[in-house]
Amino acid sequence: MLVGDLGEFTLIDRLAARLHPARPDVWVGIGDDAAVIGSSGAGDLVFTIDTMVEGVHFRADTASPWQIGWKALAATVSDIGAMGAVPKVAIVSIAVPADTPVGMLAELYDGLSASGEFHRTDIVGGDTVRTDGPVVVTVAATGECATGQAVRRAGARPGDVVVVTGTLGDSAAGLALLTAAKGDITSFAKLVERHLQPTARLREGVLLAGAGATALIDISDGLVQDAGHLADASGVGIEIRLDQVPTSDALRAAGEVLGVNPGEWILAGGEDYELLATMNDESARAAQVRLSRDEGAPLAVIGAVVEGNGVRILDAAGKPLSVPEGWDHFAPPV
Ligand code: ADP
Ligand code: MG
Repeated sequence: MLVGDLGEFTLIDRLAARLHPARPDVWVGIGDDAAVIGSSGAGDLVFTIDTMVEGVHFRADTASPWQIGWKALAATVSDIGAMGAVPKVAIVSIAVPADTPVGMLAELYDGLSASGEFHRTDIVGGDTVRTDGPVVVTVAATGECATGQAVRRAGARPGDVVVVTGTLGDSAAGLALLTAAKGDITSFAKLVERHLQPTARLREGVLLAGAGATALIDISDGLVQDAGHLADASGVGIEIRLDQVPTSDALRAAGEVLGVNPGEWILAGGEDYELLATMNDESARAAQVRLSRDEGAPLAVIGAVVEGNGVRILDAAGKPLSVPEGWDHFAPPV
């Protein structure tokens, strides 16, 4: 059965049936002109939106519809976490050709639903339109944080340390493994999963905000690029010691199998959705202790905020390295 055989409203009903809203503060979900969400009235609202286009953000031959759905929601709520806020609800817009199989969209909605359950974000509405172009999936989400407590990209101060959650480069390594199509990649399932089914560091975002993060950003475009955004917004320079950046054993093994220096994945690979923050040294140590106690992702100190501007990557001896750029949709060709 194709989308064109069903009609918009039957399709919406079929897709809505795949979702499993669970939040008690959603008064009105899918089926009315708009959703109605209960509010405590105490905190600040945080809003964000993310769009994924077939051929640009995902490829039907490497990602299943379920994974596309999962990732679209994860990427959006990661931005909420990167403000130190907690997501609540999301709305989803899909633009699809009429000859799209309904089963493909049903699977995509199962992925959205599973991701929503995992990230405790209900999908409360959306929009469904026809296109003659590629499939486009847009997820907007709203979340909450205590009044005035959202952590911005601006706020890093010289003397702060730079910290990062988890390990970097895994998603880019997973993508390289998927597209290289050489050898057996089953032993690298974790890396591939980090690319196709990433999770947002929501708990870590709240904890970093509470621990006194002066600036916070999620790493969606690559460490150098996103550290650069933070540095620009804060009007400071950032120095990162490459040897201090945490990486997985699997990443290094994948580098050997593919004959690639993993440095590029670590520095320029996007979509790890780890959090990068700045804070004073003492707060960083306290956050490390709290994260390990709460079974959050490990937190590593990878550098320092300095006077000046831009991002410098240093080797173990403190010597500057030349570095690759991250992902920029409209970067001029070089
Ligand atoms: P309207 O014409 O008032 O904008 P629609 O017919 O577009 O309403 O949508 C009807 C209901 O279904 C609304 O609650 C809307 O949020 C929801 N909806 C529409 N498309 C989607 C979708 N792709 N995913 C989830 N909910 C959707
Ligand atoms: Mg309406």
